[in-house]
Amino acid sequence: MISIDFSMAIAGYFLVFLAFMLIVWFLNRREKDKELSLDPKMIWFCSVCTYNYVDTKQETISICPRCGSFNKK
Ligand SMILES: [Zn+2]
Repeated sequence: MISIDFSMAIAGYFLVFLAFMLIVWFLNRREKDKELSLDPKMIWFCSVCTYNYVDTKQETISICPRCGSFNKK
C-alpha cells in the first residue's frame, strides 16, 4: 500500500512538473513568435553603408546609427 502510494505521488509530481515545463515552453515560444512578427517592420537597411539596424520609433524615415544618413522605407 505504502509503496503504491509513494510511486503514485512521484508520478503525480512528475506529471505536474511536466505540465509546468510545457506551459513555460509554450509561453516562451509564443513570445518568440510575437517578436518575430514585430521585427520585419522595424528592421532598416542603410542604402549608403549597407548596415542593418532596428528602429522602433520611426516609420517612414530613419537615421542610420553607423553613418548618419537618412533612409526611406
Ligand atoms: Zn548607414
